[in-house]
Amino acid sequence: MDPQLSHYTQFFIVVTNLCKTNQITPEQKSLLKGNLTRKEEKICRMLMQNSGPGKEMQLREALLDYLAAQNKQIQRRRSHKSKTVHFMKDVAEQQEKQPEVVPPQESSAQPLASAAAVMIEQLTGVLHKHIDKHSLLVPEDKEKLIQLSSLISKLTTEQVDLDGVSPFRFRYSSENSRLAEISEKDLDSSDEDVYEKMAKGIDEIYKELKSIFTGNLHTHLLLMQEDISYENLYQVLKFLLKILVDADEFTFFIHRDKEWEVYQSSNDSIKDVTPEEAQRVTDELAYIRPFCIYRIDPKQRQYPQIEDTCKTIGYAQTSIVKFQLQLKNYEVLFCLHWADKDKKNIKRKFINYANMYGFNKDVTHLAQFLVETIITAKVQFFNPLRFADQVQDIGISFMRISRFLLVEGIEKVLSIKYEVDKEQTFSTDENIRRLKEASCVKIELKDSNPVTLRIKDMDLKNEQDQHLYQVIIQIQEKYDGYVKLCYEKSAFYKYFLRTTDSLLFDFNKQGELIFLSRPISKSLKERYNINFDPKAILYNKISYQDIFAQNSIISNIEVNIQNIHENRRNQYLSNLENPQFEIFLKVVDNDFKGFTVIFHENEARRLKQYFMALKIDNMTNDVQKEAEANKSLEEDIQKQILIQYNKHQTFKFLNQLDETQDVANSMIALFIPENELSQIRHRKTDGRSPEQQNKDMQNDQWIIPPQKQKKIGSSVYVKCQLQLETVDANQFKVNESDSQLDLFEFNILVLDSSQEKHRIVYSILEKNGFISQYNLNKQCLAQFLSVLQKKYNRRNNSFHNYDHGIAVMQSSHFMLQCGKAKQFIDDFRRMSTIISGLCHDVSHTGRTNIFMINSQSKLATRYHDSSPLEQHHAATTIFMLKDPSLNFLNSLSKEQTQQFRRVLIDNILYTDIKVHFTLLKDFESRIKDEVTKPFGTGDDDLKLLTGMIIHTADFNGGAKVFEISRIWSERVNKEFSAQYDEEGRLGIPQTPFLKDLDKLHIMAKSEMGFFKVIVRPLWFTLNTFFDGFLQQSITNLDNTIISWEKIYHANLPKEERQQQQQQ
Ligand SMILES: [Zn+2]
Repeated sequence: MDPQLSHYTQFFIVVTNLCKTNQITPEQKSLLKGNLTRKEEKICRMLMQNSGPGKEMQLREALLDYLAAQNKQIQRRRSHKSKTVHFMKDVAEQQEKQPEVVPPQESSAQPLASAAAVMIEQLTGVLHKHIDKHSLLVPEDKEKLIQLSSLISKLTTEQVDLDGVSPFRFRYSSENSRLAEISEKDLDSSDEDVYEKMAKGIDEIYKELKSIFTGNLHTHLLLMQEDISYENLYQVLKFLLKILVDADEFTFFIHRDKEWEVYQSSNDSIKDVTPEEAQRVTDELAYIRPFCIYRIDPKQRQYPQIEDTCKTIGYAQTSIVKFQLQLKNYEVLFCLHWADKDKKNIKRKFINYANMYGFNKDVTHLAQFLVETIITAKVQFFNPLRFADQVQDIGISFMRISRFLLVEGIEKVLSIKYEVDKEQTFSTDENIRRLKEASCVKIELKDSNPVTLRIKDMDLKNEQDQHLYQVIIQIQEKYDGYVKLCYEKSAFYKYFLRTTDSLLFDFNKQGELIFLSRPISKSLKERYNINFDPKAILYNKISYQDIFAQNSIISNIEVNIQNIHENRRNQYLSNLENPQFEIFLKVVDNDFKGFTVIFHENEARRLKQYFMALKIDNMTNDVQKEAEANKSLEEDIQKQILIQYNKHQTFKFLNQLDETQDVANSMIALFIPENELSQIRHRKTDGRSPEQQNKDMQNDQWIIPPQKQKKIGSSVYVKCQLQLETVDANQFKVNESDSQLDLFEFNILVLDSSQEKHRIVYSILEKNGFISQYNLNKQCLAQFLSVLQKKYNRRNNSFHNYDHGIAVMQSSHFMLQCGKAKQFIDDFRRMSTIISGLCHDVSHTGRTNIFMINSQSKLATRYHDSSPLEQHHAATTIFMLKDPSLNFLNSLSKEQTQQFRRVLIDNILYTDIKVHFTLLKDFESRIKDEVTKPFGTGDDDLKLLTGMIIHTADFNGGAKVFEISRIWSERVNKEFSAQYDEEGRLGIPQTPFLKDLDKLHIMAKSEMGFFKVIVRPLWFTLNTFFDGFLQQSITNLDNTIISWEKIYHANLPKEERQQQQQQ
């Protein structure tokens, strides 16, 4: 139950008016807002029933009724004897002293809730012992105990509404949370310095909490690299974890497709969990409530299997939480590990207080982010901005909940001298009066979940007490101001994070970089001579002088700062002299607060307007107005976000590949367009000329000495003597089982009869209605297929054979069934495309184009080194169709024949890997702009679409389930290995990435990269266009990439593993 945004807006307007007209007190206003923020059921229901257009009056009445009811409940609660609900700390401390004691001591004096919690914990312990599989209970009794146990855990972890209004949450776990930043020995309460030490202690807590936001911004800066790799990202995640909760490592179990896998950050590996272990993990998980955070006590071994699989034994502390992954419905058990026992870091307490103060969802959100990022980044190319946006969100939510650490910290420090009570409060008039009456000092920490500290023996008439009190109040105000600032900054930053055509640098008043809105593009770096190494942030502060090498920018900044100091103007100033970049100086209350430099690549005017609008919003004091303004701004730019995340994905991708050293030596290099590859080579060779490079290549060790060289030319292949087999057209008919031809799962590898394979080709054509619609000649088709099979199979290629041709045909047929494809592609083009799939590799030599060119083959000569294989496949097909006995398309008109020929040639030429990136880039940029220039209106669009279909279908084997995908991978690698050997024999340059593919770990690594960089983006783009029609392939591909990674790790030779660890 969640009211709509319009309900919220109406609610805030009505409540503000009620308060302005004194019908409700400010405390009642904040009670209402607080209850709505934490989505209290009654108020949500009330809001849903009483709001909407013209219902302001009704809502006002309902709100007043609601408040009256609340008041009654508070009175009733107060009349009850044990009405004050204490935090569980007392329980925890008592337990720490006497962990095995069963009855709660002094139960009459102890608050009821605490006593109940102790009982519940102990009862749960007893239950667990009996549910344990070694127990002798009969299954029926055991079942009942399990039910009882889960009921208890449900009761104790969910928000327990003790008397109708309490937002207090019970804690369910045996953790003993204690702040220990100041040891009690250090502080003797008789010591005169104790006040000073307490004041200092509180100040330190404040400083440490402030470092959450700065640390988070550093995490953000680390992400701002255009060529960010998976390894960088993984380091950034660990850094984030350290910054936020001071944890060292994490482990997660993930349950998908009925199997459990475990990921460990300590060595960044993902492994399968054996079925037996998985069963025990599942059993143990039954006792763990979702979103509730548990601390594992290494001595107690409560979850032996989970602990063993996580290897928790090496860690001082481990906390776990269970949740479902939002997007994918995977069940996840997430574990955080702390290596040492150091408790001085207050940020560690986040986890311990999460259940108690009800921010376990925020902690889970961090865990979700880590899991999702790891599993996403492992399988796909990523844009750092996508993660930066989420890092901002996480940082701000941790800043918000750090309030509770402040409360706990202050309490801990004060408890050295005073008796301190902590209480959940409501800011009602009566509450405040009641607190005033009592003889103690209260400090209220306002929040949607407010807390009051009651310091019993603090005497404000005593000067020292008074001073300390002032310190606390000041720290609290400073902290509130800081959190507000963080919110403002975060909103500001997030806007720029989502703006593609500008680049923002934010500096503090010391001139140190604190924020960068996106990775700096190469062109900007060059144009303005900008130096920025994000990794430097880990060791040093980066100043504007380090970043801008161009004097004009530095002097511009310095002159402006000088002006500000002299003029003392209370506003943002901007330098408009240079339209390419602007400098904004931040001056608040006559105080210089730092400056911002924005580079505009486009749309400077629009951005400036946004900037000014944002600044005005930030200056208003009305929180509500501000929130609304931010909301509309947010909505306004929301649409842009998706576009920006994906805009020119492939183009960026190419740039990124360009920067990656490994690429030139991997199979991916094959796919990089010629001109870009030569750029890479050029750069890599420090500006040596191509001629010089060629000479160097001759001298390289892998070139076989000339005397061993054979004469190279056409006769390098062993031709397989294959008889032309007779195909019986009478057997051409559609079988019942052919319905599987309409599914992606169809697997050609299970067929061994060639008659059956031919029949399947016929069946696909028949099922599409082409046989009758275009009057296809069955006799000629039979002949055609007989010749086609022979031409495909004559070299005994393990991959590029008749099976592959049929598989590509079937996959094209599958894709063309989807609604979006039918919307654009007419019957004739569909038939032409399906037949292109069948014929696209006919007469393949089992070697790559590079080989064909380097070996000076006939084909390369004939086609001038330009797509020799693809031109040959297309030409062979057309040549065959010229033979009247094979031309099954002989009923087509002259125009139709021409059109068929054109579609066939275009499609087959698109299967050259050299045009992969161009095709993907062109297709992406064409489908982006669906509003102003709808897709599919001309021949060019359709050429791109069918090209995409054939090129994607060419990788159908890889997109099948891993068991099948692996077979296709092994087949193609067999061809590659054979090529490498042959290159050696012929004395032509041996393609480096084809080396050692017979070694499993090398092949696995090559496949991982190939699928992640080439195959998946292709399927992903087409799947987006087809509205999710190809989702199964994406799931399969993700699984395949992870499976190859597991194989890689499992087969990595010992020496290489050691080498990697040393690095
Ligand atoms: Zn192919």
